[in-house]
Amino acid sequence: MYYTNDTIIFHNGSYVKAKEASTDLYAQSLHYGYGVFEGIRAYQTVNGVKIFKAEEHYERLKRSCALVGIPFHYSVEELEQISYQVLRKNNFSDAYIRPLVYCSPNMSLTSPKEVYLMICAWEWGKYLGDQNLRLCISSYQRPNPKSIRIEAKVSGHYVNSILATSEAKQRGFDEALMLDMEGNVAEGPGANFFLEKDGVLFTPSLGHILPGITRHTVLQICKELDIPVFEKKIKPEELAEADGAFYCGTAAEVVGIESIEGKPFAKSWKNTHGPIIQEAYKNLVLEKSFSHVLI
Ligand code: PMP
Repeated sequence: MYYTNDTIIFHNGSYVKAKEASTDLYAQSLHYGYGVFEGIRAYQTVNGVKIFKAEEHYERLKRSCALVGIPFHYSVEELEQISYQVLRKNNFSDAYIRPLVYCSPNMSLTSPKEVYLMICAWEWGKYLGDQNLRLCISSYQRPNPKSIRIEAKVSGHYVNSILATSEAKQRGFDEALMLDMEGNVAEGPGANFFLEKDGVLFTPSLGHILPGITRHTVLQICKELDIPVFEKKIKPEELAEADGAFYCGTAAEVVGIESIEGKPFAKSWKNTHGPIIQEAYKNLVLEKSFSHVLI
């Protein structure tokens, strides 16, 4: 259940009950996936309820709209304020916030005349759970970046993610790992990928992946903790040689990977950098001090 009889959302300029909000079945986004969204988390921190990296998420929302030609005029500040209002009106602290920019009725393949905004939130735990993940290599590649704007978080792109996750579950795995059109390791259906070898971390370079805000945060954490990390093209053969790996994303946070196609890693999770980064990330979102993980 994402909402109850009392849940309040922001929809086109006002705060309304989710149950009473409606939209037009002729909306262009519904037919063609031509809409843009974000996935944001709010945490009950030691300093009160805080939306983690709200500015970065709303800048990406605006950039995504610009990249695919959806006119969208809210400022980052307005969007942040609305998000806090939605949390407050629902009395949420640990929550997932979902802004969606969608287009007015238009059956032609042209830019819309009107654009709508909804921001909703729901109380939500971890996306992928606490358990380390058993991944399979997806038969679905990440989309060709010359066919779409891969760096934009566009609704229609997520058909690719749904296909990959559904296939993984049907095959009895927890989640998929997707390659790009050149056969290099890309990312998960909703998370970025890091691999560890001989104490060094590697993550796929930008170009075929969503530039995740958590990926960026993990790169910063590594810098701070003096963990060497490099962005590069990762070949699937390197997976078999790796000591460990993890996924990261706003919803997933930092989650360990147990095996890929049934093959476990050379080291157990607790002997990799993974748990340290996981803890550092948790401390960061909860606005706790890093200090005890530095020992
Ligand atoms: N890749 C994809 C395809 C995603 O959908 C997400 C989730 N937004 C991520 C990576 C992680 O991005 P972020 O850290 O910004 O949530």
